[in-house]
Amino acid sequence: MEVKLEGKHAVVTGAGKGIGRATALALARCGAKVTAVTRTQADLDSLVQECEAITPVCVDLSDWAATRAALQDVGPVDLLVNNAACADLQSFLEVTEEQFDRSFNVNVKAVLLVSQIVAGGMKERGSGGAIVNVSSQASQRALREHAVYCASKGAVDMLTKVMALELGPHQIRVNAVNPTVVMTEMGRVSWSRPDKAAAMTARIPLGRFAEVEDVVHSILFLLSDHSSMINGVTLPVDGGFLAC
Ligand code: NAP
Repeated sequence: MEVKLEGKHAVVTGAGKGIGRATALALARCGAKVTAVTRTQADLDSLVQECEAITPVCVDLSDWAATRAALQDVGPVDLLVNNAACADLQSFLEVTEEQFDRSFNVNVKAVLLVSQIVAGGMKERGSGGAIVNVSSQASQRALREHAVYCASKGAVDMLTKVMALELGPHQIRVNAVNPTVVMTEMGRVSWSRPDKAAAMTARIPLGRFAEVEDVVHSILFLLSDHSSMINGVTLPVDGGFLAC
C-alpha cells in the first residue's frame, strides 16, 4: 500500500518518542509537511536533526491554555494524530486525584482541545480531513493497575465516535487505533517484568506484542484515502487480543 501525502499538513502529538515519533517520521517520508508536538525540547531537537522538514512545537499538553496558545498559529491542517498520553500505574484503591487529573488532562482533554482547534479550521475551510486518535486495547479490557489509563482510553474511544458523528458531515473522518503492548518507553514501564509479559503475550492469539511499525502502518492507512469510507472505528492492532 503506497501512501502519498504530498501537499498535506499533518500534526502529531507526543511526537518526541515511541509511536508518535515514528509516525511523524513516516508521515514526512510520505511527503506530508509535519508539525511535531511534544513537551521535551531535547526530543524535538533530535527529531528535527533526523528530519529537517519537521516543524517542532514544544508544549505540555496537560496545560489547556498553553496548548491553545502554542497551536494558534499552526496553520491549515489536513491530518491529525492525537498520540500523546501517559500511563501512570496504581492499584485502584490507591489512585489519587492528582494522578487522575494528570492522566485525563493529557489522554482525553488534550485530544478534545487539539481536535477542536484542528477540526474547527478544517470546517471553516471546507477542506475535510482525517484524524486518528491513539487509544489502546485497554479501552475495552480491564487490566490490573490500569484503572485510570483504561478509563481514559475508554473515553478516547467514545470521543472518537462522537467526533466521527459530528464531523463526518464536514468530510472529516475520525478513527482510533487500539494497539496491544508495544515495547516503547511506556510499554517497558508496564510490561518489562518477564512474568507479566508472558501472561499478556499468552492472551494474544498471534503470540507477540506489536511493533511500533504495526501501529504506524495502521495510522497511515486511516489517515490516507485508502480508508476514505472508514469513519468512527476503533481498530484493534492487537494480534487478536480483543477477539478473545
Ligand atoms: P511513549 O514512548 O511514552 O511516548 C509518549 C510521547 O507523548 C512522548 O514523546 C511524551 O513526551 C509525549 N507526552 C506525554 N505527555 C505529554 C504531555 N503532557 N505533553 C506533551 N507531550 C506529552 O509512549 P508510546 O508507547 O509511544 O505511546 C503512544 C500512544 O500509544 C499513547 O497514546 C499510548 O497510550 C498508546 N499505546 C501505547 C501502548 C504501549 O504498550 N506502548 C499500547 C497501547 C496504546 P515526554 O516523554 O516528554 O513525556
